Amino acid sequence: MSEDILGRFDSIRIFERDGKPAPHKPLLLLYALARLKNEDAGHITFNEAERAVDPLLRTYGSFRTRPTVAHPFARLANDKGDFWWVEEHAKTSSGDLLIAEARERHLKAGFSADVLRAFRDNPKLIDVLAINLLERNFAHSLHPDILDGVGLHLGQDEVEAVLRRKRDPRFRVAVLNAYYEQCAVCRYDLRLNGAPVALDAAHIKMHSAGGPDKVPNGLALCSLHHKLFDLGVLTVDPSFEIRVSDLVVGEWGRRLQDSLYGKPIALPRRDRDAPAEEYLDWHNRFVFKQAPGQP
Ligand SMILES: [Zn+2]
Repeated sequence: MSEDILGRFDSIRIFERDGKPAPHKPLLLLYALARLKNEDAGHITFNEAERAVDPLLRTYGSFRTRPTVAHPFARLANDKGDFWWVEEHAKTSSGDLLIAEARERHLKAGFSADVLRAFRDNPKLIDVLAINLLERNFAHSLHPDILDGVGLHLGQDEVEAVLRRKRDPRFRVAVLNAYYEQCAVCRYDLRLNGAPVALDAAHIKMHSAGGPDKVPNGLALCSLHHKLFDLGVLTVDPSFEIRVSDLVVGEWGRRLQDSLYGKPIALPRRDRDAPAEEYLDWHNRFVFKQAPGQP
């Protein structure tokens, strides 16, 4: 029964046809799960979803897609898993919701009745679905911030069970070792009692997009550069030079540009461990954030 309910969410397309991550639907679903778990809210209004989810789309979405929750708010109801419901509403000629009208009417949407019943009968399903959505759509380093952003707090048992199942600890050891236990971007190499701290093995191409747990798909990055890499503020081009998004602003944006743009990364000790072009290319195209119209 519970497997059936979760299976109905598998039909959500995680990557668009060209391989680009499509975070709109997962972010709206995570927000709806948070409201259900925190307040037993059976539906949400368009205005609430806009306030909560649009800022997240600006951070976690691609700049090539418009950051509005309007599309998933209505279109999730057409998904073949039949897990979403939306109130009757007027549509544009292309079938989209009319944003002004949706705001005016405080248009409602939410999980369909049988899905809602299953979540209420077995609240642990909320956490399991949330973890599935995170694992399949977002880099690991971003999960805590996304959960905070939607206001969802997971039970520790569920989180640990999933992490044990999905992560390969050998990847971290192999990547850190290949890079002399230092950040490939800034050479940070702090050790505490001999062990590296705040240093991660980042995936270049996300697991859920088919990126393997292999060293050529990894980079040793300090916690800050890992997060900036996963957010698309930084990338590494095929000649192993760092690129910084031209969308960062402020004093620190300038500092980042000046100190890192065009600089070579610290390469691993063996050539065959160097980042593979196919993974760098994926990150350049689909994660790195550039203003529309840039190459
Ligand atoms: Zn660093």
